[in-house]
Amino acid sequence: MEPKYKRVLLKISGEALAGEGKFGINEEMTKTVARQVKEIHDLGVEVAIVVGGGNFWRGRTSKDMDRATADYMGMLATVMNSLALQDALLAVGIKAKVQTAIEMREIAEPYARRKAISQLEHKDVVIFGAGTGNPFFSTDTAAALRAVEIDADVILLAKKVDAVYSDDPETNPDAVKFDELTHMEVVEKDLKVMDLTAATLCKDNNIAIHVFGISEEGNVLKAVYGEKIGTIIK
Ligand code: UDP
Repeated sequence: MEPKYKRVLLKISGEALAGEGKFGINEEMTKTVARQVKEIHDLGVEVAIVVGGGNFWRGRTSKDMDRATADYMGMLATVMNSLALQDALLAVGIKAKVQTAIEMREIAEPYARRKAISQLEHKDVVIFGAGTGNPFFSTDTAAALRAVEIDADVILLAKKVDAVYSDDPETNPDAVKFDELTHMEVVEKDLKVMDLTAATLCKDNNIAIHVFGISEEGNVLKAVYGEKIGTIIK
């Protein structure tokens, strides 16, 4: 069976990297992600990754701090996660590059679209760190933006929760799981799957989003084969 997609943008929330602990990096989780990326990379799928930073810091967490400063801290958090993922990918034999939207040349390459596309064509995994490089945005928006820029076939939205629900399933036992949604429904129902900026960017550019849980091994592979796990937004 052929994979459904040739080029994917995998978005991993920072929270997913924290595993059971809510803070920091759980190395078992980075290994889980690396193994799952390897599975699809072995099939010849081109993989770009955007990683969140919520396991360390989110700009909106602070009530007192200047928001832009707090957001820059959040972007730096995504770079720590990017380096951890790069390390885990290199350990399983995958050539992984990190490109950051804020220059820090000693530890990563600065973001350059054509270079990223060329690296993907050479089957390197490219991790995009530092979000969009701008405060007041999210890494979901960075994922949508990069997906459009590199002409990805789909955004694989890997989360700690396994799908999109009508409410938080951890606090509301009556929360309903959605198998399929349209972009419009995500926007209109204000579902907390991604922020509105990210959702409208996906809608305007007609990019499908497949939401699923990352902690279950094999899910990335299933998503790439188009299996109906989690929630599909298109
Ligand atoms: N951030 C930002 N601009 C971006 C991407 C991220 O300012 O383009 C900051 C923002 O403060 C955000 C934090 O980085 O809260 C971490 O990203 P996010 O909350 O999206 O991470 P996730 O929830 O996916 O772990």
